[in-house]
Amino acid sequence: MTALDQTSSAAQTSSAAPGMAADTIVAISTPPGRGGIGIVRLSGPAAASIAAQLVSLRHPLEHARARLADVLDAVTGETPPGQQDGARIDEALVTFFAAPNSYTAEDVVEIAAHGSPVVLEMILRHALALGARLADPGEFTRRAFLAGRLDLTQAEAVRDLIDAQTLTQARQAASQMGGALSRRVAPLKHSLIELIALLEAGIDFAEDDVDITSETEIARRIDELAPPLAALEASYARGRIVHDGLTLAIVGRPNVGKSSLFNRLVERDRAIVTATPGTTRDLVTERISLDGIPLELVDTAGLREERQDFLEEAEQLGMRRSREALAEAALVLIVLDATQRLNDEERSLLAAVQGRPALIAVNKSDLVDTSPPASEFAGIITLSTSALTGEGIPALRERILSLATGGAAAEPGMLTSLRHHQAITTAQRALADAAQANATGTPHEMILIDLYRALWAFDSLTGQTSPDDILNLIFSTFCIGK
Ligand code: GDP
Repeated sequence: MTALDQTSSAAQTSSAAPGMAADTIVAISTPPGRGGIGIVRLSGPAAASIAAQLVSLRHPLEHARARLADVLDAVTGETPPGQQDGARIDEALVTFFAAPNSYTAEDVVEIAAHGSPVVLEMILRHALALGARLADPGEFTRRAFLAGRLDLTQAEAVRDLIDAQTLTQARQAASQMGGALSRRVAPLKHSLIELIALLEAGIDFAEDDVDITSETEIARRIDELAPPLAALEASYARGRIVHDGLTLAIVGRPNVGKSSLFNRLVERDRAIVTATPGTTRDLVTERISLDGIPLELVDTAGLREERQDFLEEAEQLGMRRSREALAEAALVLIVLDATQRLNDEERSLLAAVQGRPALIAVNKSDLVDTSPPASEFAGIITLSTSALTGEGIPALRERILSLATGGAAAEPGMLTSLRHHQAITTAQRALADAAQANATGTPHEMILIDLYRALWAFDSLTGQTSPDDILNLIFSTFCIGK
């Protein structure tokens, strides 16, 4: 965030009618700080005319062409004292996209200068002096959405692509940006509209001898929507973790090899490992990408006392920490020591994870003669590992992954956010109500109320019926300049 960015006010949200905005917005679209190049972007009816005053173009702007220009340190009406005209301070490449063939469907100008923050901010300041307004976060994309260039799931995907931390996330976002989710929903919406039209016609022309749609026909049409909707709903299990990632807490007694396993999984020496219990002083967390799924590993060793006479106390502290991490993590990896018998603390840990997604690693398998193959212990999948030799680590990764995804495979058009999920479950509930009403001979007017609720839910997914405050919420999570 630059100082200028901070002057952006949420209250400035465009109040123009859907479609075209009356004002021209400007923002630095590249990240704050120094860079090889930096881009100032303008969008709106005055974008081209402001750009032409902002820089000294060597050739007139033309759609989809880049033009060389000089950036001057002053524009008309803003000459520094003792200077007549602005002096050349940078050189820029200016690209113009004429409405409607631009990202926002408005006139858009991108000024790519060298990435000096002071020069970029100066260009921004000049643009503001020439009548542009500082863009709100996500306002360029919001304009694209309002102009119908993107639906809401696609606009969200733009943000997700920018925020992606793994290639899998980027691919998922790109597929959603291409409309994968909208395409999956479109035929369902189409069938629903057909059913609504049938019932509406029956009501409107009730006296004109129009055939009233039978209860069986209505039931069939509603039932047809259930399996694809259920599949869509189920896709959230994987879509969500691809989008958000998961936290895996590594818990267990001191010295069983938690940090060593953690290091194996992150594949570099992030945590300090020694033979003395207690060197991993605090919770150590690291983000890894397991088959493209972001996973936050939390190592809970955390012993504070190194002296042996404090071991008991320290061990309790370690276990307490394990329990704290356990409470917050989505997945739990319990590490046991193959050379040690289970103690009470471990038994209580095992009891605490009952019914939760958990795995057990019986570590230090290299120290025992026979390590059992993958099995179950207390109903939890158990693997034998050696953080020292690496034995069992690939299997552990695999197990973590299938635990994380719940076995769900990647598919196009997954639901990736709670918002999507809520829209789909609302539609499911509304259709279930409609089916129920139909089965009990409720008048079609009443069934239609449920069907319209389902339709509204579909439309909210793509943004057609999203109220302004929901849109504000969504676009405020974008960066400025996007
Ligand atoms: P933590 O306290 O549970 O985090 O345990 P550490 O990862 O710090 O490991 C404690 C000690 O056990 C260190 O000396 C490690 O080198 C050793 N260790 C960890 N995993 C293994 C293993 O699989 N085999 C053997 N032989 N030693 C291990």
